[in-house]
This record gives sequence, structure tokens and C-alpha cells, in this order.
Amino acid sequence: MSKYIDPHTKEVIDCNNHGTNCKFCKNPITLQVAIFYDLGDPLKLIPLACCNECADLRRLRRRIERKVQLVCAAIQVAGSNATDGLLSKSRESLTVLTKDYARMISNLYGMDGMAWDEECVNLLMDKPEKWNLIIGELWKLFRDTQKYQTTKG
Ligand SMILES: [Zn+2]
Repeated sequence: MSKYIDPHTKEVIDCNNHGTNCKFCKNPITLQVAIFYDLGDPLKLIPLACCNECADLRRLRRRIERKVQLVCAAIQVAGSNATDGLLSKSRESLTVLTKDYARMISNLYGMDGMAWDEECVNLLMDKPEKWNLIIGELWKLFRDTQKYQTTKG
């Protein structure tokens, strides 16, 4: 048993501890489940658990994706009237954002180095309305490339 203090209400909640591993980085973590947890089998929570570090990275992921969405929306809205200034500024932002994204993924999976290619920025610039699909593909691509690099040596 352990106690969890709700950061907002300061309420002290009795919890059972379950040892498990983070679903992302596989580091061992202790999951606290409130003893009055009654939304179903608490053991079902275990495979969903992730460590604080990975939870922070998930938040970072959403933040970066939101920014990519905003830049892409601006390109889309401007359409054929997009000025060179807007396009070069957008390209600059997307370069920074996708590099951050690649770095974040290598952190998330505990890998060294990062795979980044300007091609992903070209794709986003060409098809800003597909940013969601492109970023989803990037996630897989970066993740798998990191894996490959790690395996290679
Ligand atoms: Zn983790």
C-alpha cells in the first residue's frame, strides 16, 4: 500500500502498488492504483502505464504536432497567394519542428542520434492539408530508422 496526494485537492488517497514496466521505454515503474478504483479491473491499467519521462514526451509530442498544424494551416490558407516570405518562414519553422520531433522520438525510445531528412519538410510544404497523415508517417519512419541505427551499432 502507498499514499498518493492529489496535487489539486491535497486529498490523500490509499493506493495499491503494482510493479510494471513503462510501455515505451520499458523501464521499471510502480503504478499506484487507488484502492477504491472502480472503473473496472485495475490490472487492465498496467499495460497502459508509462513513466513520467515518457508522459512528458507525449505532451511534448502533442505540442509539436499542434505547431506543425498551425504552420500548415497558414500555408493552406494562403494557397497560391503565399508570399516568398511566408513560405521561407514556414519552411524554417517546419525544419525546427520536425528536427525537434525526430529528437523527441529518439529520446522516447531511448536511442542515440536522430534521423532527419529535409524531405519531410518538403512533404509538409507540398501537402499542408495532409499534415496529420505526414506527421503520423514521420513518427513511424523516425522510430524505425532510430531502431535500425541502434541495431546497426
Ligand atoms: Zn518510459
